[in-house]
Parts: sequence; C-alpha cells; structure tokens
Amino acid sequence: MDITVAYFHPFLHPETVKRDFEQIRAMGANSIVCAIHEQEEQRWSRDLERGLSQAQDAGLKVYLSLGRFGNLFAGPSLMPSWYTFRHPESRVKDRHGRSHGISCYNHEAFRSWLFKEIEYYLSTYPINGIMLDEPRGPDITCFCSVCRALCPDITDLQNFRRRSLLDFLSELFSCVKRTDQDAKTSIVLLPQDLGMVDEIAQLPHLDTVGCHLFWQLLDEDVSMVEPWGRTVVEAARLHNKRSQLWFQNFHLDAEGEQSLDQTFSGLLRCDPDEVACYYYWRNNVDPESVWQTTRSLMRRLPRRQLHWQTHPRIPVPNIVGKDEN
Ligand SMILES: [Zn+2]
Repeated sequence: MDITVAYFHPFLHPETVKRDFEQIRAMGANSIVCAIHEQEEQRWSRDLERGLSQAQDAGLKVYLSLGRFGNLFAGPSLMPSWYTFRHPESRVKDRHGRSHGISCYNHEAFRSWLFKEIEYYLSTYPINGIMLDEPRGPDITCFCSVCRALCPDITDLQNFRRRSLLDFLSELFSCVKRTDQDAKTSIVLLPQDLGMVDEIAQLPHLDTVGCHLFWQLLDEDVSMVEPWGRTVVEAARLHNKRSQLWFQNFHLDAEGEQSLDQTFSGLLRCDPDEVACYYYWRNNVDPESVWQTTRSLMRRLPRRQLHWQTHPRIPVPNIVGKDEN
C-alpha cells in the first residue's frame, strides 16, 4: 500500500523543505502532491523548480494539482481563478442567464488555455503527474452559447453537461499523456460526486481515482468513511485503475483527533492501493499531535520494501543551462 502526502507549504526556505521531505520519505511515502495557483508561478518559478527537484532528490514522486484553474478544481487558497476573472465570457450561464463563478469546460478558449498550461508545467518542471482536486460536477446546467451550439436540444442540456464533463476530463488526461507518456494522471472526488465514479474510472488515460473521505468537514458520521471508500476501491478495481483514499488529518478539534484511529482503521478495511494525507495541514487545535498520530498510524501499513531507494532524477527539458543532476 503506497502513501501520498499533500505538501501545501512554501518552497522559499530550502533547508526547511529538505527536512520536511526527509521526514515525509522516512514515514514511507512514495509521492507528494503540490498545488499551484495560476497567480503564483510567474512570481516564484525558481522556488517552484527548486522545491519540486528537492522532492525528487528525496525519492518522492511529484504530482502537481491545478489549484482552482477556471475555478473548476479545489486548491489550498480560496483565491479565485485569474483566467475566469479576466475572461468573464467563459463563465457558466444558467437557464435564467445568470453567470456563475466558474469557466465552462466547453468554452474552446478556456480549454485550449488550460491544456497549454498543463503542457507548459509538464515540460518545464520536474513533475511525475497531474492531479485534479475535487473537480466541480455537472451541478449547474450551462446554457452558454457554446453549450447551446453543441447541444441544440434544450431538454437534453442536463445530460449533455454530464457527458461533456467526462469528455473534458478524458481530453485533459490524454493531453497529459500526449505531453509526457510517463506522466501519471489522478483525480480526487468529493463523496457527493461518487455517483460518477464508475464513468470516471472508465476514462482510458486516467491512472488513479481517489476520494476525500472528509467525514468531519462534511458534517457526516464517521461510519461513512468505509462505504465511501469501498465505492471508490471497487470502481477502480473493476476498471483496472489505482485507488487512493484520503485521510482527514486537518481541521480537527480535540474530539476529532480522538477519531483519527477509527477513521484510519475504516479506511484500511477498504484495502485501497494508496492512502493519502496532509503534512501539517490547516486548522488543527494541536498540529504537532495530529502529525505525530498520522505518522504512527501510517506505520501500520503493509510495506512493499524494507529499505528505501532513491529514484533517479527525471531529466528536466526546456530549462536553459540547467544541470540535470
Ligand atoms: Zn457552457
């Protein structure tokens, strides 16, 4: 069973980053998830490049999460998408003509911008895969001119929205593979979107399907962790994909912290391919204690290897004068 850790911390202090990655690796993690927001990369491209290289040097594979691109995905900051702000014409329009704060994934200019961004990140930075964090479901039926043109039958627009979400995701994942055939693709759903997990798991260029089992944040009973987890693991197995279950080790008060053990046991009973959690993530009453508990719970996982091997660095194309070691 593999371990993935989300590292949503700044890369500005290399020594701190090095210490953190060593700790994450020593815990048995194989990969980390880093998130980038549209506004960030242009201001600290060197820090991003160095931080991601440090992860690979520590033997960790790097998944990049597209933080709030088009406001279609989640991200560590609650900042709105710069693209959507600058291109209000790309926004979803409901049946009353009201615009919503997300770009329509059928909007040609938005799509081609997003795919170019993915190509840019994959060919510029040391990245092993792209992760989509809580993609927005087809909850609002879009009546924008593009959707109307693509689906002239108004009564079919709702179903069209669902079909075109799958088409958008499929094209996005194939864009990743076209740019770098070794890059991995993953998607992490919210429990309320599990109704689509079977269709999503069938997308040909998708490698990993996951779920945020955040019972406490979603105000659900802790017993829901297991049925949610099983749904994902079964869908993934059926379609030969990897499953990834996320453990809520953030936003916990003292009582929530007491439930970590129970949540983790429920998650393990689902037998996923991967368990994922956060490195010192937000809003815990006792951050140190939550992290130490997380580490000790992870020690329960069956390990595939007894000693660590540092993965060779992947070559980084397109950075002039860069030493590839
Ligand atoms: Zn639309």
